[in-house]
Amino acid sequence: MAPQKCAHPGCSCSVPDKGPFGKYCSEHCKDAGEMTELRCGCHHAGCA
Ligand SMILES: [Zn+2]
Ligand SMILES: [Zn+2]
Ligand SMILES: [Zn+2]
Repeated sequence: MAPQKCAHPGCSCSVPDKGPFGKYCSEHCKDAGEMTELRCGCHHAGCA
């Protein structure tokens, strides 16, 4: 199965099936939710 993409629109991280932040990659994306950000602030490698 392909990994899920983070549900935050500005984010390009993939999220593990049972990650600690649900459908988001990080606390940052969880807080930002569906809000559109110019640049994602999760600071993961590969996400800009
Ligand atoms: Zn991100
Ligand atoms: Zn994310
Ligand atoms: Zn991320």
